[in-house]
Amino acid sequence: TRPLLSIAGLSASYGTPRGPASALAQIDLELGKGENLGLIGESGCGKSTLLKTVMGVMPGNARIDAGHIAFQGRDLVSASPEQRRAVRWAGISMVTQSALNALNPVLRVGDQIAEAILAHRQVSRAEAWRRTQELLAMVGVAPERARDYPHQFSGGMRQRAIIAMALALEPPLVLADEPTTALDVVVQDQIFRSLRELQQRLGFSLLLVTHDLALVIENCERVAVMYAGQIVETGPTRDVIRRPAHPYTLGLKNALPRLGSRDEPIAIPGGPPDLVDPPPGCRFAARCPFALPLCRSEPPQLATVAPGRRARCHRAAEIDALAPLAALPQT
Ligand code: ATP
Ligand code: MG
Repeated sequence: TRPLLSIAGLSASYGTPRGPASALAQIDLELGKGENLGLIGESGCGKSTLLKTVMGVMPGNARIDAGHIAFQGRDLVSASPEQRRAVRWAGISMVTQSALNALNPVLRVGDQIAEAILAHRQVSRAEAWRRTQELLAMVGVAPERARDYPHQFSGGMRQRAIIAMALALEPPLVLADEPTTALDVVVQDQIFRSLRELQQRLGFSLLLVTHDLALVIENCERVAVMYAGQIVETGPTRDVIRRPAHPYTLGLKNALPRLGSRDEPIAIPGGPPDLVDPPPGCRFAARCPFALPLCRSEPPQLATVAPGRRARCHRAAEIDALAPLAALPQT
């Protein structure tokens, strides 16, 4: 069956004073109906850029250079602005971490959600209000709080309201960019529990950006790892974490503190490449403990390494022999 979202060969750049910065390069990604996909990678690797590109809310200095974003079989890259608008919120919605900015401080929370419904659906004001209260209840906010202003809500409640707004039109795809990063762990867990319950009822797919690997392990059956604007590895979350196929994923894993282990976490030395002038070979080569001369000259392609698993590495086939060496402190 056709995936809900299918991104192929997507490249995008930001105009900068030094020239275009290659923020997304040949992104290939698929997401099935009802599926959860985690997107991880260090700060600046392009996670938010990818979500904004899919949502069609890129800043003015950004442009799509190549590729396709097929949503329900229709390409969004070549879609007209009207077609794009029709998909936004009703087809694809987005939850970001800056919940404070997403709510208008001078309007009651319930009115903001009801307005979103009225703007897209032919329903009466009374019906929109009834739906708003139902939505708030679904995300765990008492319906009578619909008459409150955002400042009367706690941070967790505001984030729940944002999620209610994102689900108001029952979109098949929800993009979430660090949706709970600003909240404490207990509230974060509660919100994810409600999200999963809602998913059972509504059946949406979730593309989740997070720095928190534990959240991905708990909530996403598949994960995609990004590095310097590229997908470097994708596959079932458990398999990818247990046996990474890319040296960067291995580095991420070794950088995590391990429960019950005396081994010190080892951060990946170095930093990401300059996206205005990316290296000719593998973008990770300069930091990779296993880089060969080939890696510095030839860019690897995202290739299938096992059923359902892909990695962008010349040495992916040797990774099992190399992996133990990555756990040794670098000298
Ligand atoms: P984080 O985890 O910190 O949120 P990210 O993975 O979401 O990082 P992006 O925000 O997508 O990363 O940024 C990707 C790259 O694009 C970075 O190098 C960033 O500096 C650059 N970038 C982002 N927005 C712009 C912009 N409006 N103009 C120019 N460069 C930008
Ligand atoms: Mg981001």
